[in-house]
This record gives sequence, C-alpha cells and structure tokens, in this order.
Amino acid sequence: MIAEPRISVVIPVYNEESGIEELLARLTGVLDQLPGGPHEIVFADDGSRDRSFAMLEQAAARDPRIIVVALSRNFGHQAALSAALDYTSGDVIVPMDADLQDVPETIPRFLEEYRKGYDVVYAIRVRRKEGIVMRASYAAFYRIMSYLANIKVPINSGDFCLMSRRVVEELRHTPERHRYLRGLRTWVGFPQTGIEVERAERFAGQPQYTLRKLLQLAFDGIFAFSVTPLRAATVVGFSAMGLAMLVAVYALCVKIFGGDPPPGFTSVILMNIFLAGVQLLFLGIIGEYLGRIYEEIKRRPHYIVRQVVGRQVLAKPDPETHYDVSSHA
Ligand code: UDP
Ligand code: MG
Repeated sequence: MIAEPRISVVIPVYNEESGIEELLARLTGVLDQLPGGPHEIVFADDGSRDRSFAMLEQAAARDPRIIVVALSRNFGHQAALSAALDYTSGDVIVPMDADLQDVPETIPRFLEEYRKGYDVVYAIRVRRKEGIVMRASYAAFYRIMSYLANIKVPINSGDFCLMSRRVVEELRHTPERHRYLRGLRTWVGFPQTGIEVERAERFAGQPQYTLRKLLQLAFDGIFAFSVTPLRAATVVGFSAMGLAMLVAVYALCVKIFGGDPPPGFTSVILMNIFLAGVQLLFLGIIGEYLGRIYEEIKRRPHYIVRQVVGRQVLAKPDPETHYDVSSHA
C-alpha cells in the first residue's frame, strides 16, 4: 500500500475528436488536485480516422504527463486498453472511456477505497443513461453472464475502475487473445470492492461500439469464462433422446394394439427440422470454441504500435519480465 500513489489513467480513443478537449480539461483538473505524482495519462489511439491523434499529440507536447500510444489500425476497445496498460508506470491504474461517460471526479473516491487496502476498486453503474432497449440488453447480458461464468463477475461493473500495480501486472501476463478485461480482473483475485457510480451521458460524438462490437464483447465474456454452453449440448441431446423414446413406445403400442397409425406427417417434419436446428446450434457453439482455440494458438500480438508520443523512456515493455518496483521508485 502506497500512501500517495502515482496514478496512471488509461484511455482508449477511437474517433473522439469532439470530446478530447473537454476530457483533458476535466481529467487534468482532477489529477492536479491529487497529492503525490507525477501522475500520467496514457492514451491508446485505436486507429482513429479523425483528428483525435493530432489533438492528443499536441496535448502531449504541452503536458509531460501525457503519453500517446498509437496503434497501426483499429484493434478494438479491449486491445487498445491492453496496449495502454502496457505503457503505464504508475502505482495504481485507472482505465476509463474517452467520452466522459466515466466521470473523472470518481478517481478520488477510488483512491479512498484503495487506501483501505483494496487492490481493485470498480465502479458499479447505477442509473445508466442509455436508452431503455440498451439498458435491458445490458441487464440481460450481465445476468446471463453471472449465471454461466465460473467466476463471479460483479453485475453492472464495466472497465472503469482502479487497479493496483500488481493486479495490472497479472493482467498483462495473461496471454489470451480474446480479452474480456473486466472478467480477467475478477479472475486475478486480490481484495476487490465496488463503489456505486453514476454513468454519465456521452459528452460528444457517436458511440464507437457498434452492435456488432458489443455482441463480440458479450461473446468474449461468455465463451472465455464458461464452458456451460458446451455442456448444454449434452443436456439437450439427452432430453431429445428421452423424448424420442417416449414417442417410440407410443408408436409401438399403437402398432401392437391395432388402431389406425396416427396421421403424423406434419409433426414428424417439425421434429426433424427442430432437431436439425438444435444440432446446428451446438455445432455453432463448438465452432465458437474451436475458433477461439485457433486464434489463441496463432499467438499473434494483441495489437501493433505505430508510434509512441510523450515520455521518452519506455521501449515497449517486455511482458515476459515482471514489473520491477525499484526501477520506478
Ligand atoms: N473505443 C476504441 N476502439 C473501438 C471502439 C471504441 O478504442 O473500436 C473506445 C472509445 O473511443 C471510448 C471507449 O472505447 O473511449 C468506449 O467506447 P464507446 O463510448 O463507443 O462505448 P460505450 O460507452 O457505448 O460502451
Ligand atoms: Mg461511451
């Protein structure tokens, strides 16, 4: 536990030009108030196609606390987050979104809990400001996730949190490609707690998460932390067999004790189609896991860096070597 920890704020940015000025103003305002330091802000520019990178570059020229890691293309939010994490040097790390939905003024509250001895302090979102459909989908997802996953990811907690250096180091050393960071964060362990935080509305610009990317994230969460979908195949398979046996017994009885064979063409076809559907579904699920295994064994890097702006020190930190606290004292 460090009394006045150095803070690294970590922000993935994808086409956020309209919000960056305000973000910087609010965030540096908060950091200025905090004792200790020098704190730092590590931006990962996730292949933005607008002026985001140029603006960040200028900001880094004005303010030595700012570092910009520009990726070679759009790798996605979680990969950008991983990239930025790799360039942090602070004692505690606070990942947040660029659109001011994560309120920077929460950071002092995170620190309070950190001082009580927690390694992870995550924001529990109360009163989301998104539309009703989005809210319902999020709620459904978090519930399905907590039912399926073999770790208990706290409901309604996103990536906005504070993590101690040792937690971040453990995260960085999990080699998996499909990173669902809030799941991994729970998986890592150490004392964790949540505080309730209101999620603001996006300050400017459009959501950069398309429905597709959100679904991708949801799948990453479920398939990375649960094999329950695979097991469901067994359950459904057995049920179908049981059902088939019952029908067989019935058909035999009818045959033996006479009577007309039931007119069952439609039901037979329906059963066929239904069972074919079930089989395809589970083939799909198996494919999902298989595809992930394939992605993992290729062992490609999570992201590629085009350029780093700001603090000269770090060449890309070697993830194989553990963090050395003394070198940052
Ligand atoms: N983001 C990113 N790469 C992407 C999509 C989003 O780095 O491919 C960033 C984005 O700039 C923002 C954060 O991830 O800082 C969250 O994105 P967004 O606000 O669109 O997501 P939402 O708040 O709707 O979950
Ligand atoms: Mg947002």
